[in-house]
Amino acid sequence: MEIYDVVIVGAGAAGLTASIYLKRANKKILLLDKGAPGGKLLTVSEISNYPGYPSISGSELAIAFYTNAQKQGVEVEYGEVTSIRKEGTNFFLSLIDKREICSLSVVIATGLYNPIYLKGEKDLLGRGVSHCATCDGPLYRGKKVLLEATHEKGIEEANYLLALVDELYFVTPEEKEEYPQELLAKENLKLFEKSKVLEVGGKEKVESALVETTNGKEEFFIDAIFPLLHERSAAYFLEPLGVLNPQGFVKTNAELMSDIPGLFAIGDARDTPMRQVVTAASDGALVSRFLLSYLRKNSSK
Ligand SMILES: Cc1cc2nc3c(=O)[nH]c(=O)nc-3n(C[C@H](O)[C@H](O)[C@H](O)COP(=O)(O)OP(=O)(O)OC[C@H]3O[C@@H](n4cnc5c(N)ncnc54)[C@H](O)[C@@H]3O)c2cc1C
Repeated sequence: MEIYDVVIVGAGAAGLTASIYLKRANKKILLLDKGAPGGKLLTVSEISNYPGYPSISGSELAIAFYTNAQKQGVEVEYGEVTSIRKEGTNFFLSLIDKREICSLSVVIATGLYNPIYLKGEKDLLGRGVSHCATCDGPLYRGKKVLLEATHEKGIEEANYLLALVDELYFVTPEEKEEYPQELLAKENLKLFEKSKVLEVGGKEKVESALVETTNGKEEFFIDAIFPLLHERSAAYFLEPLGVLNPQGFVKTNAELMSDIPGLFAIGDARDTPMRQVVTAASDGALVSRFLLSYLRKNSSK
């Protein structure tokens, strides 16, 4: 059986960057993706905060990442990983098409998974429905916005959005959680605990949301909604390995390695305070350094 030095799972900004660095270091790599190379970038209309490009469409940036990787000799192979196990020092990755791949190390770069869970959400995606507050928040400066998230995730996103929007409806299923005083002091915050969004409404774009609050059903007139309640990493197939945090992201140390030696995670899939293209690319570069050191210590090459 062929043994790779590294298998990278996911060819988004993080995985493609890692592949560039590892290929240049002459490692035998396999870059797998269950979809098209470029990942989440392919769904983003405009990026204005990736340094070096004042404004670029997500798909153009994805093509630039991919072309750069191809120039280094990287090829992306189709494959959806469904499970990973470690035997001795080797990892065995099982694919949906029943193939099995063996590698000395693995980089998880599978990005985020945001299931569509609201009535009306799918039809209005990109037209007021967004799964990235940091990215799309600035589009709704001075507008009315709804955020549905867990308490923990919601605090981060609410803090960011409150500085921009006219009114923020923060809807969360939890109750009696502790919120920072400075957040609660914001006049444009309307907090609804023990509540849930039932439906998003609008013809051409988001116009309203029906919310089940402790006072019954209420309709809020809004310009945008961030339904982030079920957000987790797309690396849920790692659950049996015990390397995920309670929110479903891969826990990593300062060397981007999980609790299992040789299993690394980068980009949106890992437990990180910021999920952006620049941080995904940065992780991809950094992991190559730590991985090369791991391989030196753990293989005869
Ligand atoms: C609406 C929106 C707007 C955004 N705007 C911006 C912005 O303006 N600026 C910015 O910096 N960032 C923005 N982002 C965030 C940015 O797109 C991500 O942070 C970044 O692309 C993450 O890269 P990644 O490589 O970690 O993951 P991804 O790009 O998600 O790539 C993961 C890849 O893994 C593959 N994969 C998943 N599971 C498997 C599996 N089991 N087997 C094989 N392959 C698998 C997927 O097919 C995918 O190609 C935005 C995101 C969204 C949703």
